[in-house]
Amino acid sequence: MSKGKVVVVGAGPGGLTSAMLLATRGFEVQVFEKEPVLGGRNAALKLGDYTFDIGPTFFMMKFILDQIFKETGRQAEDYLDFKLLDPMYRLQFEDREIYISSDTEKMQAEIDRHFPGNEGAVQNFLSREEKRLKKLLPCLQRPYSSWTDLLAPEVLQLLPRLSLGRSLFDVLGDYFSEEQLKLSFTFQAKYLGMSPWECPGAFAIIPFIEHNFGIYHIQGGLNQISEMMGKIVQEEGGQIHTSTPVSKIMVKEKRACGVELEDGTRVEADKVIINADFAHAMNELFDPGVLKKYNSQALERKKYSCSTFMLYLGLDREYDINHHNIVFARNYRENVDDIFKNFKLSDDMSIYIQNPTITDPGLAPAGHSALYILVPIANRQAPVEWNEQQVKYYRDLVLQTIKEKTSLKDIEEHIVQEKAITPLNWEQDFSVYRGATFNLGHNLSQMLYFRPRNRFEELDDCFLVGGGTNPGSGLPTIYESGRIATRLICSDYNLPYDL
Ligand SMILES: Cc1cc2nc3c(=O)[nH]c(=O)nc-3n(C[C@H](O)[C@H](O)[C@H](O)COP(=O)(O)OP(=O)(O)OC[C@H]3O[C@@H](n4cnc5c(N)ncnc54)[C@H](O)[C@@H]3O)c2cc1C
Repeated sequence: MSKGKVVVVGAGPGGLTSAMLLATRGFEVQVFEKEPVLGGRNAALKLGDYTFDIGPTFFMMKFILDQIFKETGRQAEDYLDFKLLDPMYRLQFEDREIYISSDTEKMQAEIDRHFPGNEGAVQNFLSREEKRLKKLLPCLQRPYSSWTDLLAPEVLQLLPRLSLGRSLFDVLGDYFSEEQLKLSFTFQAKYLGMSPWECPGAFAIIPFIEHNFGIYHIQGGLNQISEMMGKIVQEEGGQIHTSTPVSKIMVKEKRACGVELEDGTRVEADKVIINADFAHAMNELFDPGVLKKYNSQALERKKYSCSTFMLYLGLDREYDINHHNIVFARNYRENVDDIFKNFKLSDDMSIYIQNPTITDPGLAPAGHSALYILVPIANRQAPVEWNEQQVKYYRDLVLQTIKEKTSLKDIEEHIVQEKAITPLNWEQDFSVYRGATFNLGHNLSQMLYFRPRNRFEELDDCFLVGGGTNPGSGLPTIYESGRIATRLICSDYNLPYDL
């Protein structure tokens, strides 16, 4: 059978992964991206001479990206300059700061210094969680097309490792006794936009992945991954059309047969891959009545991640704080409840500050810095009106908190460039449903077989990739979604996936 025409809606990490893998395998690939730049939430933001990553800044599970580049016949190192970060990050509590390292000896020494009585805890955590990852990873790399997939040997073997009924915070209690130490290994639930007290215990694999494989920065910013994937799509003859929004998925007799662009052009295709935010795409890209399982009422009932308030600051001085810094709220539990239960803005917030110019000076002019500030907050379910006054109020509060709690006492005086992104911007400018920046929640009822499938169950010849689909949000799992969709398309053509 001949290789077909594939249209990809959106040039985010998920869409670009499948576009480059399919283009390498001889498919005729066209990517349509509504924005003038590639990368979606993983794009670069340029403010004057300063460069920021809009979204992802922690790069984990490098081996997955390495494999995917290999599967296009390339080495990731030929395209990207990776820097392993040690320490991985600095955690700032009211009474102490802890440097977190993926070097087990250094990490244990830091724990012994702050929390005597936890001897051997890191090694114990690593050995037990390694077993969990071994069982979980194959389940995150496969499609779920029917309930019989739940009977696959790897899925059945995973069941005892899911820590059913236990939260991430409960599971970490098995290794560490002190509250701050448990927080140091559970705040990672926020990477999924979840609370450590709600996040399924199985996600103990995330701190394990950090501690076992380390965290990387990529020179130029993580946006370079999307940039380079776009380059590979084009090297392989694929086409990327930026500033070209898709207005509709064309459907004929329960099969996706192409896309209609906003200017009215109709592009026919054998396969359609949707990378636009899952819930946004379901609501906006189909004629009424086409979708049953994912109609707008059903989407409303699903659980979504939190949102974020972002500040990107170009500053005319350097700071010697660590590359990644997390400043905890005074009362972390209350802050988490405000985000996920009370749906209100906390005055006592937790703040993530990235100071990438300490590793990558090219992101700002010499002697300057480009700070990225992220505050997890409730998504658009919260009754907050993000007007100009509200943005200014929260921006001032965030900067005030940073001045009070960190060594960055003078940042306000040194701001040369500045941009804020609110939940409303995520929703309207980035087309993210409810401004839930980390997509559909990762509760077990929305994972694996129960998460939107890579082979879309509502239409033939339609595939879903990206953070709101199987296997989940976060760059490595998003790359997996693109790889799974590619494997499924190859199998439809009886083509081997391996080159
Ligand atoms: C603030 C923030 C911090 C994050 N930090 C990390 C991190 O440190 N590490 C990590 O691994 N992950 C992180 N993530 C999560 C995740 O990696 C990113 O959100 C990632 O970019 C999501 O990729 P995606 O493929 O799902 O889609 P997106 O990046 O959302 O891309 C979808 C694309 O579709 C386009 N599109 C939408 N509608 C249309 C249309 N109608 N026509 C054409 N194009 C359309 C959009 O413009 C966009 O380019 C973070 C996310 C955010 C927002």
